[in-house]
Amino acid sequence: MSHNATIGIAKVGVIGAGQMGSGIAHVCALAGLDVALVDVNAAALEKAVANIGRNIDRQVAKGTVTQEAKDAALARIATATDYAPFDDADLVIEAATEKAEVKKTIFRALCPALKPEAIIASNTSSISITGLAAVTDRPGKFIGMHFMNPVPVMKLIEVIRGIATDEPTFEAIQALSAKLGKTTAVSEDFPAFIVNRILVPMINEAVYALYEGVGNITSIDTAMKLGANHPMGPFELADFIGLDTCLSIMQVLYDGLSDSKYRPCPLLVKYVEAGWLGRKSGRGFYDYSSTPPKPTR
Ligand code: NAD
Repeated sequence: MSHNATIGIAKVGVIGAGQMGSGIAHVCALAGLDVALVDVNAAALEKAVANIGRNIDRQVAKGTVTQEAKDAALARIATATDYAPFDDADLVIEAATEKAEVKKTIFRALCPALKPEAIIASNTSSISITGLAAVTDRPGKFIGMHFMNPVPVMKLIEVIRGIATDEPTFEAIQALSAKLGKTTAVSEDFPAFIVNRILVPMINEAVYALYEGVGNITSIDTAMKLGANHPMGPFELADFIGLDTCLSIMQVLYDGLSDSKYRPCPLLVKYVEAGWLGRKSGRGFYDYSSTPPKPTR
């Protein structure tokens, strides 16, 4: 019998029942782990459980999950608005709102509710793992576990060690990721990690190309789909991610690396100021009020 710490991960706590937290609960429960899903908002919890059920139904319809596995997974998910169910959790994954102060307040309150050996992971897209770890009583057992959206579909987890993260914690998260059917990429703790460091400046560059008149939305998206073999053009992708999210990641890169090459394109700023945030607001670089969506310039 190995002493690998992962053997211990049987129960996972998830904080935040939004898009990401519900996806994380979904994949953990399907992998056979007990899940306690916590949110400050009871309505968000109800919505999350309903969404998880619907999303697993799709997998049942496709034949990738059986009805029995679905029922067993749903039965493994408990919900709460406080940390009491975390007292026997082996790992808590935080997926609350992307604000450093919100997350730090959560971690300070969370630690006393956990057993001493429990690992804490954050799903943050941009906040320093080292800085979040520092507010906890266990920086060695704190790590970044950055899932991609939508969690049940996307294969990658970026794993980010803070400066203090210990080896057993890192190995436990690597093994858990494999158990969830995911592949990991290890990133150092620098702004936006790997995927967003490369992807979002590409989108920003596409907006510059549009802003400077190099091409229009259709020509730039067509060029990148057929010329670089990307499944979505940069504007389709930006609308999918949300233009406010793209802008805030550029801001994190610009501030965090103090390099002018990361300056957000003024046209991206203007779309966000207009409230044209992409699919979620019905209009971004494309207008979604008609099918197919119409490019806005
Ligand atoms: P979301 O807004 O859908 O969900 C956040 C949830 O956190 C909400 O339900 C909110 O009620 C809850 N919450 C806020 N404060 C809380 C508290 N103190 N305690 C418990 N719950 C609290 O956001 P999301 O898109 O799911 O993002 C969550 C995290 O995942 C963020 O850190 C984000 O950067 C990261 N992330 C997002 C994506 C994405 O594409 N959306 C991808 C990877 C990582």
